[in-house]
Amino acid sequence: MHATINKNLLIQAEKLCRQRKVRLTPQRLEVLKLMLQQRSAISAYNLLDLLRIVEPQAKPPTVYRALDFLLDQGFIHRVESANSYILCHQFSKPIHTSAMFICNRCKQVTEHSTKRVEKTLQKLAQELGFTLHHSVVEAHGLCINCAEIESCFKQILFSQTLP
Ligand SMILES: [Zn+2]
Ligand SMILES: [Zn+2]
Repeated sequence: MHATINKNLLIQAEKLCRQRKVRLTPQRLEVLKLMLQQRSAISAYNLLDLLRIVEPQAKPPTVYRALDFLLDQGFIHRVESANSYILCHQFSKPIHTSAMFICNRCKQVTEHSTKRVEKTLQKLAQELGFTLHHSVVEAHGLCINCAEIESCFKQILFSQTLP
C-alpha cells in the first residue's frame, strides 16, 4: 500500500516541477525517492549514507543542495529541533502550517496539517502587518507507543517499591 502512495507523490512532484519550470535533476530525484521511502524524519548524514548506495561518489554538498531544492519546492520540511528532514504530504500546498509531533523517546516525527493553528497565525500576522509564508510548529512529547511503554515502566517501578 505504501508503494502506491509513494508513486503518486513522485508523479505529483514531477508534475509540479514541470509546471514551475524547475529541474528535477537525477540527483534531486534520487534524494526525493529516498525521502519517499522514509517512515519518519531523517538526518542529512543518514540520507547521504543511503544515497551512496546508488551514487558512491556523493558528498555532503550533493545532499544539502538536493535538500535545499526539495525544501524550496515544499516537498520536504526541515525539523529544526531534531536536525532532520521529513517528507511533506501536501506537495501542492507550498504554503501551509504543519505541526510536527516529535517523540522524545523513539525520535519518530509525524506531520499533521493544522487549519486551526494556521488561522490563528494568519490573524496574528495580519494584525502585525506581517506577510506569512510557511510555518512549522514543533511539538515534543511521547508518541502513542512510547507513552504506553513509559507507563508500563512506571508501573513496574511503582510495584518494585512496594513492600
Ligand atoms: Zn507539509
Ligand atoms: Zn515514540
